[in-house]
Amino acid sequence: MRALRLTAWGDPPAPVDIERPVPLRAQVLVRVEATGLCHSDLHVIDAAPGVLPYQLPFTLGHEVAGRVAALGPDANGVEVGERVVLYGPWGCGSCGRCAEGWDNYCDRRATLPWHGAGLGRDGGMAEYVLVPSARHLVPADGLAAEQAAPLSDAGLTSYHAVAGLRHALGEGATAVVIGIGGLGHLAVQILRATTACRVLAVDVRDDALALADRSGADFGTLMRADTAQVLRARGGDVGADAVLDFVGTAETLDLAVGVLRPGGELAVVGSGGGRLTVAKPGVLPPGFRLSLPFWGPRHQLAEVVELACAGALHVETERFPMSAAAEAIDRLRHGRVRGRAVLVP
Ligand code: NAD
Ligand code: ZN
Ligand code: ZN
Repeated sequence: MRALRLTAWGDPPAPVDIERPVPLRAQVLVRVEATGLCHSDLHVIDAAPGVLPYQLPFTLGHEVAGRVAALGPDANGVEVGERVVLYGPWGCGSCGRCAEGWDNYCDRRATLPWHGAGLGRDGGMAEYVLVPSARHLVPADGLAAEQAAPLSDAGLTSYHAVAGLRHALGEGATAVVIGIGGLGHLAVQILRATTACRVLAVDVRDDALALADRSGADFGTLMRADTAQVLRARGGDVGADAVLDFVGTAETLDLAVGVLRPGGELAVVGSGGGRLTVAKPGVLPPGFRLSLPFWGPRHQLAEVVELACAGALHVETERFPMSAAAEAIDRLRHGRVRGRAVLVP
C-alpha cells in the first residue's frame, strides 16, 4: 500500500510502498477514508534530529477516520465495516491514566519513543492503519469520513481545552480565541455549543476571521498593536475570563496576558515557542491560571463525535488526494488553508 512516510529528519515526507499490515492479537486494521493535516505535522516534519523521541521511518497522520477492515484474533468492541475515528494519543497502555482512557497524559509518556498514531507510530496517511486495540477507536457511523477525521485531534484538543475552562465561562463571561485555523474554528463552535459566554476571535488573516464569523464568534479582529484594547472594549472593559491561544508565540501570549481580567484563565494549545515569565510581583494578572492542555481523553472524543452527530459542529475542510499531500503541506505552511486540509486516499 501507499504511505506518506517520514524517512529522514530534515527531509520532506515521501510516498513509499509498504506492506499492508496484518492485525495480530487485539489489533484492528482500519481502511483509511480521510486524514486531517495538522499544524503539528509541520512541527514534526521540520524537527531537527534529536528533538523528538520518534524513531524513523514512520507514516504520518494522526487525525484519521475510516472503516474497520480486519480484526486480530483477540480484538473485540468493533465490527468489520464500521465507520470509526481514531483516538490518536497512544500511551503505554498499562498505567493508570491509559487504563482510564487518558493516554494523552500517560504516566510513561516521557519514556515512550512515540506520542501516538502518526507521531512516532505508523499513522493514517496511508491506505490502511494498524491500531493497537479497539479502545483506540470511537464509532462515528453518523458522520462523513471527512467530517469525522479532524475530530480526532482538532476537535478533541479544542474540546478538552474548553472543558478545562468551562467553569469560568458562564452567562455574561467572555472568551477570546486566538488563531482560527483547524483547531480554533472548532473551538469557537464548541464554546458556542457548550457554554453561554461571548466569543471573540483573533487572527492575522481576514479569511480566518470570516471563518470565525461562520463558526459563531460574536466578534473578530486582526492581530494588531491595539488588539488588547479592541477586545476589552468588546468584552465589557473588564477583560476576558478566558483566553484560548492556538498559536502560542511571544506575541499571542502577550496579547493573552494583556486582555485577561484578574482571576482569568489562559489555555495555551499552540506550540509557537513563546515563553511566559512567572514572577510575583510581575505582569501576570492576579489570580492568573494557566493550563497546557495536550490532546484529550477518549471519552471526550466520544462527546465531540456526539456533538458533531447532533449538528453542533461543522468542520470546514479543503480536500486533497493523498497524492497531493505535498501541495497541502505547502499551503498549510503558508497560511493558505481555510479550516482543515483533509487528505483522502
Ligand atoms: P492552523 O495553521 O490550522 O491554524 C493556525 C491559525 O493561527 C491560522 O489561522 C493562522 O492564520 C493563525 N495565526 C498565526 N499566527 C498568528 C498570530 N500571530 N496571531 C493570531 N493568529 C495567528 O493550525 P492548527 O492545526 O489549528 O494548530 C494550531 C496550533 O496548535 C499549532 O501550533 C499546533 O502544533 C498546535 N496543536 C497543539 C495540540 C495540543 O494538543 N496541545 C494539538 C494539535 C495542535
Ligand atoms: Zn495535531
Ligand atoms: Zn500509560
